[in-house]
Amino acid sequence: MKRLVLASNNAKKLKELDAILAPLGWELIPQGELGVDEAEEPHVTFVENALAKARHAARITGLPALADDSGLCVEALGGAPGVYSARYAGEPKSDARNNEKLLAELAPHANRAAHFVSLIVFVRHADDPQPVIAEGEWHGQIVAEERGAGGFGYDPLFFVAEFGCTAAELDAATKNGVSHRARALQALVERIHPSRH
Ligand code: IMP
Repeated sequence: MKRLVLASNNAKKLKELDAILAPLGWELIPQGELGVDEAEEPHVTFVENALAKARHAARITGLPALADDSGLCVEALGGAPGVYSARYAGEPKSDARNNEKLLAELAPHANRAAHFVSLIVFVRHADDPQPVIAEGEWHGQIVAEERGAGGFGYDPLFFVAEFGCTAAELDAATKNGVSHRARALQALVERIHPSRH
């Protein structure tokens, strides 16, 4: 198995990524296990933040690294909350307050279109000049009130036409098969097949 550090300590993300990467011969190690602290995410784009996290983890561990950055982009709000999705309503971060703020901001708008973005980056080493970058999007509409108890974050407000329900009303396996993260991961795996490295 080739060792790869994951620039996140999110157990859900680790599980999702591991299910796809383990069969390809990659052992994914969460950065906390290797003594890596959380990197700053000071940038205004997903790709810059993901790259900063991946390079930070690779620099400290000397291992190849994988990082992701994700969020919700709402058309009528010019792409907000975007990279600020986790802390849209400020500190401490709260999904409930973020959803409340999103509904308030969107109230005057008829256009409810939104999409989730997941940006995943792989670096072979900290100064890799050619990081592998993959992006996934998941499109939907923001509904007027929360529906469903599954998922996390903005899922209860994110209506998916294909299923006729919100992301929070989908079972985890269905969501994990079609989400922005699943799409980004699939694209990434196509690009970093281990036989190439
Ligand atoms: P991070 O990339 O883990 O920092 O996630 C950023 C934020 O985007 C999360 O805290 C959520 O608010 C939002 N987000 C990202 N992916 C999802 C999702 O699948 N469902 C709901 N919210 C999400």
